[in-house]
Amino acid sequence: MTTTLTQANNTPESNEQSRPGECTDKESFDIIKIVDAQMIVSTQGNLGVLEASKQIGFAVKRIYFLTDLPKDAQRGGHAHKSLVQCFVCLKGEVTLEISKSSKKDSIKLKDYRKAVIVPPGCWRDLKDFTDDCVLLVLASEEYDEHDYIRNYDQFILWQANNEGNKPIEFISLDGSRETNYKTKEAISRVIESGLYVGGPILADFEAQFASYCESPFAVGVANGFDALSLTLRAWGIGKGDEVIVPAHSFIASAFAVESVGATPVLVDVDPETALLDTKLVHKAITPNTKAVMPVHLYGHPVDMDAIQEIAEEFGVFILEDAAQAHGASYKNKKCGSLGHAAAFSFYPTKNLGCVGDGGAVVLRDESVANRIRSLGNYGAFRKYDHRLIGQNSRLDTVQAAVLSMKLRKLDEENKKRSQLAQMYQEGLCRLSQIVLPTPKPYAEPVWHVYGIRIVEGDRDDLRDFLAAKGIGTNQHYPVPIHLQPAYAGRWVRGAFPVAEEICAQTLSLPLSINHSHHEIQRVISCIVGYFE
Ligand SMILES: *Cc1c(COP(=O)(O)O)cnc(C)c1O
Repeated sequence: MTTTLTQANNTPESNEQSRPGECTDKESFDIIKIVDAQMIVSTQGNLGVLEASKQIGFAVKRIYFLTDLPKDAQRGGHAHKSLVQCFVCLKGEVTLEISKSSKKDSIKLKDYRKAVIVPPGCWRDLKDFTDDCVLLVLASEEYDEHDYIRNYDQFILWQANNEGNKPIEFISLDGSRETNYKTKEAISRVIESGLYVGGPILADFEAQFASYCESPFAVGVANGFDALSLTLRAWGIGKGDEVIVPAHSFIASAFAVESVGATPVLVDVDPETALLDTKLVHKAITPNTKAVMPVHLYGHPVDMDAIQEIAEEFGVFILEDAAQAHGASYKNKKCGSLGHAAAFSFYPTKNLGCVGDGGAVVLRDESVANRIRSLGNYGAFRKYDHRLIGQNSRLDTVQAAVLSMKLRKLDEENKKRSQLAQMYQEGLCRLSQIVLPTPKPYAEPVWHVYGIRIVEGDRDDLRDFLAAKGIGTNQHYPVPIHLQPAYAGRWVRGAFPVAEEICAQTLSLPLSINHSHHEIQRVISCIVGYFE
């Protein structure tokens, strides 16, 4: 027995003459996106399905539909500033015209299996309705009159202000709609699980991250600083011990050593790479040296073979500070797998960032892994059995859930960073006044920071020039570790000349997964313009 379908024209059988390609005016669109509803066909009727997360890309907050439209009806005639919509023509036909900047899309909707996603910031017109037309609209936000632009001239003005010379932030962390949706979904899963500290979601992330770093174990901790300090403590490093740290890094590298009562021994960096100068490490070793901390700064791996040799010769630990190097490789091996242990931070701006603080230690030695886990959990190996004097430093389950989701996209995001770095490389390489970061042949960096060095001219002047053009920059780092007020009296100016020179000359340019090629091109043009 077959059921009679009310929409005889749109049954899969009778649709043979109007295959998917035909129901659209062209195959690809500049603004809109077409998604196929999944059709579950049966003799008891058909079921069309659109998944919010995988297909529509936003959570639906409002549903409306248009019916009984006269033939010459003109609907639409407005734009939304931030609302996203999904149109499905359930019955009949209608033409949708979309424009944004200089782009225009036009599509005749007549197949309920094709949903059209309209991004924000578009002018839309709906016309040529057939009198049987039923148009379903799914929206990402509730009704808000402030989100509408109902006058076309105002729309053009709004667009010019928003797109033409929109400031380029140094970093913008807003996720795409899809990422935000998935982040909320991940957080919801934790809320619904009822397990907010520890549990399988955390264990899964630790296993995934260890495997990503090509190492057997990962222990989630509260932040990158704790990842460094808990590892040093687990190795028994403390008072009277020395740890070699590059003079050019984020302050955490040195302070983590202080936190266990040991002494950070600063070593200057290589002028070419800004990374630990392996030739100088040798000279800094004393009988008290217990560990070396290579920092893969800016996402560029340190020359680890040289570090390995020294560590073996003197019997010291290697603790990678990989807080800026998620996914970077050295000679085809992942950062995080190159020393005795590696510390990662998941601070929001890092290449793999969570929605708060987070960190992890990645390592091969299971007993040290257990020790770190215990130290971060009040020294307990079992509940209320406190074998070590520990502290509370755990990776929140909410963060672990978000990180699991983001880890899946890390390679793709690092690839985008690489492409943007390549654009800078090509666009700026002719300028003799600046030195660009140049990866070593053994390194596959992940471009956490893209820092140029102004060797001829005034860095601060270029910074101010770019700021006046609406371009945000940063300095990594404005003051070297040894000249920080907290270290007043410990070292003198001139102690680490390369680190000092780098701090005085570098300017970090905008580079993040949210920056468009167009934006990077604008930064390049401004810098070229400045020097020419
Ligand atoms: C971010 C960072 C850290 C510290 O990480 P937190 O999570 O902020 O504690 C340590 N070292 C380097 C090189 C970093 O960039």
